[in-house]
Amino acid sequence: MSTNLQTPIDYLKGVGPNRADLLRSELGIHTFQDLINLFPNRYLDRTKYYKISNLQRNSAEVQIVGKVIGFKEVAQKRGKRLVGTFEDDTGRIELVWFRGQKWIRDSIKINTPYVIFGKVNWFNGTFSLPHPDLELLSEHEQNLRSSMQAIYPSTEKLSNKGVTNRVLTKIMQSLFLETKGRFKETLSENLISELKLVSKSEALFNIHFPKNQELLTRSEFRLKFEELFYIQLQLILKNLIHKSKIKGFPFESVGNYFNTFYKDHLPFDLTNAQKRVLKEIRQDLGSNAQMNRLLQGDVGSGKTIVAFMSMIMALDNGFQACLMAPTEILSVQHYQGLSELCNKLNISISRLSGSSTASERRKIHESLENGDLQILIGTHALLEDKVKFKNLGLAIIDEQHRFGVAQRSKLWKKNTSPPHILVMTATPIPRTLAMSVYGDLDISIIDELPPGRQIIKTVHRFDKNRLKVLRFIRDEIDKGRQIYIVYPLIQESEKLDYKDLMDGYESIVRDFPLPKYQISIVHGKMKPADKEYEMQRFVKGQTQIMVATTVIEVGVNVPNASVMVIESAERFGLSQLHQLRGRVGRGAEQSFCILMTGHKLSQNSKTRLETMTRTSDGFEIAEVDLRLRGPGDIMGTQQSGVLNLKIADIIKDKDILQSSRFYAKRILNSDPSLGSVENKTILQTYRQLSKYKNIWNYIS
Ligand code: ADP
Ligand code: MG
Repeated sequence: MSTNLQTPIDYLKGVGPNRADLLRSELGIHTFQDLINLFPNRYLDRTKYYKISNLQRNSAEVQIVGKVIGFKEVAQKRGKRLVGTFEDDTGRIELVWFRGQKWIRDSIKINTPYVIFGKVNWFNGTFSLPHPDLELLSEHEQNLRSSMQAIYPSTEKLSNKGVTNRVLTKIMQSLFLETKGRFKETLSENLISELKLVSKSEALFNIHFPKNQELLTRSEFRLKFEELFYIQLQLILKNLIHKSKIKGFPFESVGNYFNTFYKDHLPFDLTNAQKRVLKEIRQDLGSNAQMNRLLQGDVGSGKTIVAFMSMIMALDNGFQACLMAPTEILSVQHYQGLSELCNKLNISISRLSGSSTASERRKIHESLENGDLQILIGTHALLEDKVKFKNLGLAIIDEQHRFGVAQRSKLWKKNTSPPHILVMTATPIPRTLAMSVYGDLDISIIDELPPGRQIIKTVHRFDKNRLKVLRFIRDEIDKGRQIYIVYPLIQESEKLDYKDLMDGYESIVRDFPLPKYQISIVHGKMKPADKEYEMQRFVKGQTQIMVATTVIEVGVNVPNASVMVIESAERFGLSQLHQLRGRVGRGAEQSFCILMTGHKLSQNSKTRLETMTRTSDGFEIAEVDLRLRGPGDIMGTQQSGVLNLKIADIIKDKDILQSSRFYAKRILNSDPSLGSVENKTILQTYRQLSKYKNIWNYIS
């Protein structure tokens, strides 16, 4: 290969310093290589020409043959615009320029056939084309036209400064001339022949200048596969390196605590999924590599018992364990639930929280350091530097999405060598996404709910039907059930939300008067102690209604609560709605989820509500959520950089993702160091990619 693709873009014919600056700042194109990887958004048929009389108000880009018959200047608020009258044999339209007017006037030949190309506007009763691409018909005819003309990503600044799609295409052409269209192969011959892929050079040529639809499709496939393949290769390698380098504490024995608990104190039969997951964890803990596992399981699938049984495995081997929860309320609930189990086994357990007093803290710190305390439950408070363990063997994080990667790594440092880590989440992450984001974690899935759970009946009701909903709630309370009523809390408008909540609370108090009805209220502005008091009243059944903001979203377990009313449901995200719904349906009774909304709903809201009423499958909901929001929004995946994809789409291309992962695994299985001759190309490309791009950052 003669041309170095790392050559700065300034040196490409047709670019020059001004355009180079624009390409850098607007599209992040610094080198020839970056330019070749500027993939088109879509393709347009440039063999089609419009007649002016056929233009529609909603026409997108159009191409018309005709002549400029004259110019006029039109004064406007600031400066003036140049308007050219353009006609073909069926009518007239206006061409409009706000900038570069002198140059346009001087260079455009009047009454000479041109081909214009651009987006039509309907303005003041005529069609107009602002800043169109213009090309003399005589020149246009000499160029090869394809029915698939690449349309590149652009920005307003680029088109304002004259770097139109035509200019980008020209620059791309000159890159292909410069390099003679020959690019180094980046996948191994084996992969290419096994998957019948087109070569790199052919793929790049056809992605920019498609010869036909079939070649375009195959080129897209090859480039997407390659992009995903190298990400998977890196993730899998990272996981392998991690396993071989970072030694964990092997928990060799299944000891007394575990066996006694299993034989005598297990409160119910474990589901098959729970058993399977425990086996997976047991295997990790028993090996001498440090465990880094993500446990996914829908709300109510029974993750807590799995966490507890994993912790006592650590205890059986003489280690301590901790469990970190995202909220105070949840940590209390875990503490209470697990204390009961611990008492039966004579295990010492404490809870540390932001509201622990100085003397409580001192006691906890002390017993942690001398090893008397075996299990510590808490919130972020666990991460404080003062919290030191004698020998922490297992750290569990509940509800991963509330914690950042930084916090995960902070836990690592709680010991001389990192403890085993189990991250539990009730936000099912679609498998495809998990594969690319958490490729460095091993994944266990509880995909089965404990027996006897009923499907929660979910309905959508408009605010105007509130009376009926209230009547329904009253009936349920009469049957002895408890009710949640949840209000949105979105940070940007915290004040307004607070007002909504308080107004709602007051009207509920009016509708459900004392002394017959008792109502709890919990929101973010309350002191932790007050929150806990109110929460406890509800847990103990002293109040029938719990009015709350989303603080209750995570983990709270009140089996007698059978109705979840979500106010302004259109303002919640799908995963939040799903989490909230999971608060009910925990007991034997038929449970209900009522989504209340106003009448005006966006398309997106409608889809969310429709999804909620249709299914209770967390994975299905997560897939819809991913489609609606895009991966970048979910769990801060942006920071991971993994999803900064150039051509592949994590949602649409999940089959390609799966296949790329399969091949990456297979190759690394037989050749972990990529040292063989047949994998030479892969190793070289891999090194190149990690040199020039920081695809992801190591956590620690
Ligand atoms: P989550 O996965 O949402 O944390 P929990 O661990 O809180 O779920 O479990 C939800 C409820 O189901 C709890 O009341 C728990 O005691 C109960 N549970 C868990 N596993 C089983 C099982 N195998 N059989 C019956 N009930 C179970
Ligand atoms: Mg839980």
